Amino acid sequence: MGSHAEWRKIAKKQRRKRIRTFQAIERDKVMLTDFYIEQQELELKLLLEQITKQNDEENEKWMRAELIANTRWKRLLEEKERHKQKCLEQEAKLKLEWELEQKEKAMEEERIKAAQEALKIKQECFMNSLDKFLSGDSDEPPSELKVMHETRPDADICPFFSKTASCRFGDQCSRNHQYPGISKVLLGTNFYVHFGLSNANVNEYDTDIMLEYDENDTYKEFDDFFYDVLSEFEKFGRITQFKVCNNYEKHLRGNTYVEFYELRSAVAAYRSLHTRWYGGRQLSLQFCLINSWRSAICGLQLQRRCPKGRACNFLHVFRNPNNLFNGYNDDVQDKSRSSRSSRRSWRWSESPETDVLKRIVSSRSERSNNTTTATDKRRRRSRHSDDGDKHQRRRSPRRSDRR
Ligand SMILES: [Zn+2]
Ligand SMILES: [Zn+2]
Repeated sequence: MGSHAEWRKIAKKQRRKRIRTFQAIERDKVMLTDFYIEQQELELKLLLEQITKQNDEENEKWMRAELIANTRWKRLLEEKERHKQKCLEQEAKLKLEWELEQKEKAMEEERIKAAQEALKIKQECFMNSLDKFLSGDSDEPPSELKVMHETRPDADICPFFSKTASCRFGDQCSRNHQYPGISKVLLGTNFYVHFGLSNANVNEYDTDIMLEYDENDTYKEFDDFFYDVLSEFEKFGRITQFKVCNNYEKHLRGNTYVEFYELRSAVAAYRSLHTRWYGGRQLSLQFCLINSWRSAICGLQLQRRCPKGRACNFLHVFRNPNNLFNGYNDDVQDKSRSSRSSRRSWRWSESPETDVLKRIVSSRSERSNNTTTATDKRRRRSRHSDDGDKHQRRRSPRRSDRR
């Protein structure tokens, strides 16, 4: 029996042990759950904290980027605005400049137009004065024709212009150029045109030497020109000097000077021939003062010793055919002769150019029984001496298309 009680004792002990163990397990279970939850909560909290921190960082980064972008945008806008302003200013400036330019252009055009108008009126007045002088009986030209035009009245007289009526500087010359209202000498500027004169390679002495030979084509050309022009000018009165330049310099090249015995003849010739056409070129005549042919013509050129050569500012002239007007007629410039006038021949009315010319021609033919022109004389001489040989002159083909 003792053993049963002992077994029971052990059994109870074992049961208690089992209960204790179970209880302990249960207790552990509870404790483990609490710990797990605690752990979980802690982890969650940590995670939340981490997320919040990350969010804050991201937010801050974004804010910074936003700020930078905003600043950039603002700057860009400002830049754009500045550029626009600049463009507008530039545009306004250009517009203003254009307007100013247009205004100046209009003013300049107005000025040119007014100047042209004034010149036209002046020219018309001048032509009317010429006609008045030609139509009247008075030997004395009207006072308005005696007015001398001066380019620089305060400056010294230009030594070249005063001698040759031509200056390489034109009216831009710093010295004074004096233009007479009218005069006995007419100048056709650059009137005679020849390839030898416009060709830079041709030496002026060669041109001169070539002209010595009648057979030479060059001389024949000048010969034709000489008689064509002389006969045309002679219709208006007696000619006392006729010089054609063979200078190379442009302001003297081909210049043709015709001096009349009477002032009236020069005026009539100017009135009729100025702006007329010869050989396809329009003739531009001007009145000029040549006080002494000896001073105007380069003396050394005649001896072919001019040291200035092409650069010479004095007249180098062609040798006229048949020795016509070949000297200096300075002694002919006797002023008392100008008082002699053929009033009957010059009694013209204020009629058109052609009428004036017709009257002159008819008046000259009236006198033709008594007087002979230099051309007539020369031509007669030429006929007698050459008698139809190579020097026989034919009428120039240029004459027909002159007008
Ligand atoms: Zn000058
Ligand atoms: Zn010279």
